[in-house]
Amino acid sequence: MSSLRFKAVEEAFKKKALEVTAPSKFASDYYGKYVFNNKAMVKYLSKDTFKALKNVIEKGSTLDISLANQIAGGMKLWATELGATHYTHWFQPLTDGTAEKHDSFIDYAGAPGEDIIEDFSGKLLAQQEPDASSFPSGGIRSTFEARGYTAWDPSSPAFVMDDTLIIPTIFISYTGESLDLKAPLLKALSAVDKAATAVCQMFDPTVKKVVAYLGWEQEYFLVDEGLYATRPDLVLTGRTLLGHESAKNQQLDDHYFGSVPSRVAAYMKDIEFEAYKYGIPAKTRHNEVAPNQFELAPIYGECNLSVDQNLLMMSIMKRVARRHSFRLLLHEKPFAGINGSGKHNNWSLGTDKGLVLYAPGKTAVENLQFVTFLVNTLMAVHKHNALLKASIMTAQNAHRLGANEAPPAIVSAFLGTQLTAILDKLENSTSEEAIVIDDKKVLHLGIPNIPEVFLDNTDRNRTSAFAFTGNRFEFRAVGSSANCSSAMATLNAAMAQQLKEFKIEVDAKIAAGSTKEKAIFDVLKVYIKLSKAIRFDGNGYSDAWKVEAAKRGLDCETSVPKIIEAYTSASSIELFKNTGVLTEVELHARNEVKWETYIKKIQIEARVLGDLALNHIIPVATRYQSILLDNVYKTKAVFSPQKAEKISSLDIVLIEEIAEHVSTIKKNVEDMVVARKLANVIEHEKDKANAYHDQVLPYFDVIRYHVDKLEMIVDDEMWTLPKYRELLFIR
Ligand code: ADP
Ligand code: MG
Repeated sequence: MSSLRFKAVEEAFKKKALEVTAPSKFASDYYGKYVFNNKAMVKYLSKDTFKALKNVIEKGSTLDISLANQIAGGMKLWATELGATHYTHWFQPLTDGTAEKHDSFIDYAGAPGEDIIEDFSGKLLAQQEPDASSFPSGGIRSTFEARGYTAWDPSSPAFVMDDTLIIPTIFISYTGESLDLKAPLLKALSAVDKAATAVCQMFDPTVKKVVAYLGWEQEYFLVDEGLYATRPDLVLTGRTLLGHESAKNQQLDDHYFGSVPSRVAAYMKDIEFEAYKYGIPAKTRHNEVAPNQFELAPIYGECNLSVDQNLLMMSIMKRVARRHSFRLLLHEKPFAGINGSGKHNNWSLGTDKGLVLYAPGKTAVENLQFVTFLVNTLMAVHKHNALLKASIMTAQNAHRLGANEAPPAIVSAFLGTQLTAILDKLENSTSEEAIVIDDKKVLHLGIPNIPEVFLDNTDRNRTSAFAFTGNRFEFRAVGSSANCSSAMATLNAAMAQQLKEFKIEVDAKIAAGSTKEKAIFDVLKVYIKLSKAIRFDGNGYSDAWKVEAAKRGLDCETSVPKIIEAYTSASSIELFKNTGVLTEVELHARNEVKWETYIKKIQIEARVLGDLALNHIIPVATRYQSILLDNVYKTKAVFSPQKAEKISSLDIVLIEEIAEHVSTIKKNVEDMVVARKLANVIEHEKDKANAYHDQVLPYFDVIRYHVDKLEMIVDDEMWTLPKYRELLFIR
């Protein structure tokens, strides 16, 4: 008897919602309490220090050691008052998640052995040297030169968690190469600021800065902790490698529209309270499409900060889940047959004057600017569609994009009927009819006025990887467990490069005698034609789209190791070099890490799958088979041969089926082990990753198919692994 499974089910049913109370009646009372934000800075820094730090943050002025010392002093006092005894640099290595190494504030006051004091200097704030050898670098840093250091990112505020002051940092090698995801993001943000500001100044010369915004929507699954513990695949890989679909699934859509289950409602409240303490403006919470799937989305913010807040939020969500006897699943596809989890990245650019560049304007000039940014975005996404896909692709996300029951791994852009009509009109009109400047020097565009309200309600196309949603684009292909940095660095870099090229073309036309408006218009017209292939408003899930996308020359590759290669295509190398985001050396190194990560993920899954099949599934199946055999045997002893045959006929069919499935599973597990061993001796990471994809991965589906069939045959009481209906519907 599978006592563990039933005990877990029984316990899960008994669990009640935790009582959670708000730290205070109003969120504003404790919002950002643990963040070294403006309010804290004003209180704990001198006026001059505060002003100087603001200059560092906003204008990128240099941080000298005396300023760093002043800031560190104030920060330490603030943090210790909140109970901090330690500090750490917090960085984003090329693996999943974040890394930190905690050090205590204590130090000898004088000679070693003497009294201790609490110390935190500007040097410790600005720079640290973690043991870099344990983080992947893709060969940039061989172990004998394992040095790398973390450097403070003042644009993302420090915060206190538990007893530790946490300082967001970049992570670079001593030779200057980025070893993390934050450094390239900061470079891309600065590149897009520069390029977009130059373009904005064509419309409004007083614009000084353009900021990239990000609003993420975090999808997640919750599973009862006890049930989770009895699923080794969930524990070790974050997803179920086996499991037959539940009879009830998401067909009824009742979860999406239903009320939030009480244990989950308590959890959601709790993570919001935590979010507010850390200055994360959590706004939306709701059920998602799949059973036990939910979403949390804050109000959008400046891109770099928003990325950090997402990383922090994911770790808060994990911790708080334990408090509620849940486990949080951030895997992109924890369960076959039902929706996977994404993290839509709502992205836009805005000026320092408060203008959102993707919102239609109130004047013709603003609308021309809006169309300029829109069309340039389409160009950037068109040129770099393969790279953008690479920026979000992982072993996990591949199950959500491009696999069975998932949207295809193709990046296309959705605009909606209205914008499409406007671009069509622009494309087919001459500048003489489209641009009229009247006697009072007012610009009239021959394009229809773009009504803001209408755009806000654009027909939502849920199947598009990159969709315009009124005042922003929504990059939907990003995976739920991802660090948004990767997608955001790529998108902003692509946009920066595109805007640079646009400006050069427009300037050349102006130099040749064209008016500014006509020059912009003429370039946009060409761009609308050139980028047409990326626009697709139809059903992205249909097979017809795959055929059509290939015809249009969009990247349709589905193999993760091959998709990753887009990072080192000639156009990508050029893009990252021109924008100063990543060098060719860094790009190659990063791909090594990506392949390595891919290999490890598939390797672990293959091992777990093999173990489960051999140790959990086959023993149970054969035990059930022998009960059936016993039954047949005894039936023969009691009844006449004809009667016995009749009575046992179903048992015999089942016995044969079980034997068939068991031998197929055994054979495939054996073959998979051989394939893995062959792959393991391949020297280059890229070839090895391809071997894992082409030779090892295909066994997963075959093995799973037969295991899931057995799950339907074997006595439920004997089955050891919690079933989908238990994992998905108990909460
Ligand atoms: P939906 O589920 O309809 O896509 P949500 O409300 O769940 O919408 O999430 C939308 C996200 O987009 C929120 O984080 C919101 O703050 C963000 N957002 C809204 N406007 C912008 C913008 N101009 N730039 C970036 N993000 C934005
Ligand atoms: Mg959305």
